[in-house]
Amino acid sequence: MNQRMEQILNDFENNKLNADDSFKFHCTQCGKCCINRDDILLSPQDLFRIAKKLDLTPTDTVNQYCEAYIGNDSRIPVVRIKSKGSIQRCPFLKDRKCSVHEAKPAVCAMFPIGRAVGYSKDPDSEMNTVPKLEYFFTDPGCGDNAETHTLKEWFHDFGLSLEDDYFIRWALFQMELHDFLADMEKHVDESLMKTLWNSVFIQLYLDYDIKKEFLPQFDAHVDKIHLFLQSVFSE
Ligand code: SF4
Ligand code: SF4
Repeated sequence: MNQRMEQILNDFENNKLNADDSFKFHCTQCGKCCINRDDILLSPQDLFRIAKKLDLTPTDTVNQYCEAYIGNDSRIPVVRIKSKGSIQRCPFLKDRKCSVHEAKPAVCAMFPIGRAVGYSKDPDSEMNTVPKLEYFFTDPGCGDNAETHTLKEWFHDFGLSLEDDYFIRWALFQMELHDFLADMEKHVDESLMKTLWNSVFIQLYLDYDIKKEFLPQFDAHVDKIHLFLQSVFSE
């Protein structure tokens, strides 16, 4: 397990928050969280929202502001913001402000709160569990402790919802893709693997019409990827 993952798991276990739990944090506006970053990963919805804000296609947004690669551990296509210059500044940081503020990636909007998918008992069946969102304070080592917030208030103040079905679907689909593609990688040659990764990448991140709703397009793409991978697997 890499150091970053270990840190995330420690934060998760030690700093879990329920809606009414409180944490101490006050942002002193130093701007450091927007420089020297190579870990701002975008989900398909993050990319879609930024593309819409900039009135670009997702493809042009990736070409101008992001980089795509195959995750070292996940073995699935990943998109992250590409930092610029000697101080590795986020390309959306302009005049010390986030120029895509209303559409900033979820990880920036929630900061310093992290989230993950856990499981709880299914109220309809004692035998089953259902996925649920869990939140934790990431203790970022910046700002000061001058303010106390509850998780619920923090999200409300930033216009975020603690319920996010999309994030659960996205997190579960990433796990499914990881299982499938990491296994595939052991059995097929590099050129077929590149074709698979490329097709998944295009469907998952790029092939969206920014004038239409995101979620129906995302769901349709997930269905298409399921069918595509099943067809490859059965060959
Ligand atoms: S997207 Fe906005 S908030 Fe996030 S790192 Fe870039 S400038 Fe900062
Ligand atoms: S969140 Fe932290 S790093 Fe970012 S501007 Fe505020 S104090 Fe600075």
